[in-house]
Amino acid sequence: MVLLCGLCRQDLPEFCRTAEKTGQTYPGFCNQYCFLAFGMGIREKVPLTNYVDQPKMNGHMIWPYINISCGWCTENTIELKHKRTTSANRVFCSRSCYSDLCNTGGRRAFARFIILRHLSLHPNKQFTALQIQKFLKPYGTTTGGSLSSGSIGSMLKVYVARGTIKAIGDSWSTKEYQIASSVVNSPTPIGKYV
Ligand SMILES: [Zn+2]
Ligand SMILES: [Zn+2]
Repeated sequence: MVLLCGLCRQDLPEFCRTAEKTGQTYPGFCNQYCFLAFGMGIREKVPLTNYVDQPKMNGHMIWPYINISCGWCTENTIELKHKRTTSANRVFCSRSCYSDLCNTGGRRAFARFIILRHLSLHPNKQFTALQIQKFLKPYGTTTGGSLSSGSIGSMLKVYVARGTIKAIGDSWSTKEYQIASSVVNSPTPIGKYV
């Protein structure tokens, strides 16, 4: 059975393309662009002439560009376009914002960033450590794909203590994690919570 993207209706990739993280971290969608655009209520293409002043392009339709905030700074936003490439999955405005996160956040900073960001993209959902381990996997061993669900649980303790995430339930195997609404409603970039 061929699965189609919830937004653009293209076939979802059938295999894990780790380098592109395509179809892995945004289940049911091609990538971050399709997932976020759908969440913003976008359902159809718009004329390309909205963006470029080229009479030749009249009649050419594209998926609208969207702007998202940088995962680290508040100075820049990121313009996302509908592309099936890594650029549609960008979460930092620049390489230096990514480096700042890694340098400031300490060991496994990017893995912890992905967890917090994933939880905040699904503010009403709760995830077990096992489910968190699954969505980290496509990122590979360098960024936390090798973490066991047990080590994820202990990694998250500090965020539970700080109130960044809520832990529901007490046994380690059934405990579920949900982002705190104060984090979702705050203008502070998610990277600063790492
Ligand atoms: Zn798509
Ligand atoms: Zn930035």
